[in-house]
Amino acid sequence: MGGLGGEKNIIAGVDMVSAPKFIVDTNVGRLTKWLRLMGYDAQFFHGRDDSSLVAIAKAEGRVILSRDTHIMKRRLITSGQVKAVLIQSDEHERQIHQVIEELGLDYRFNLFTLCLECNQPLVRRKKEEVKELVPPYVFKTQSQFRQCPACRRIYWRGTHWRAMTQRLKKFSNKTK
Ligand SMILES: [Zn+2]
Repeated sequence: MGGLGGEKNIIAGVDMVSAPKFIVDTNVGRLTKWLRLMGYDAQFFHGRDDSSLVAIAKAEGRVILSRDTHIMKRRLITSGQVKAVLIQSDEHERQIHQVIEELGLDYRFNLFTLCLECNQPLVRRKKEEVKELVPPYVFKTQSQFRQCPACRRIYWRGTHWRAMTQRLKKFSNKTK
């Protein structure tokens, strides 16, 4: 991320500097979307090579999420220089639950402030600005809109938003 000057670390008044940031291995790729939904900066790792995954994590201060036990044996991780979470389950609902529990995340942290596709901070848009960009029914019934500066996708708190938030709530309460 960048290009937003001094405000790049503050989204909707929330301090992003102290919040954990993630790099998500391809073997647990579905976690990326859920972390972004909560507002946590989550980069999807496209490469194949473990050392570049660990190098990015170290350079950018990201927590590694992976199913790969070999990565966990790397020196930067065993020495504590890079934080990594070995994801236990194959099932993505359990995976997100594990991450929430182990890292003490709050599912309401900064909901819907990042683009689910690009990991970019969304920008608020006035209703009139999106008139041509959203379906007429959405324009009529919604009042708050945000847009991704990278892919131009428009977000609003419709039924899909509510359904995803409910699922997140369910995942985070699983054992409570
Ligand atoms: Zn986007």
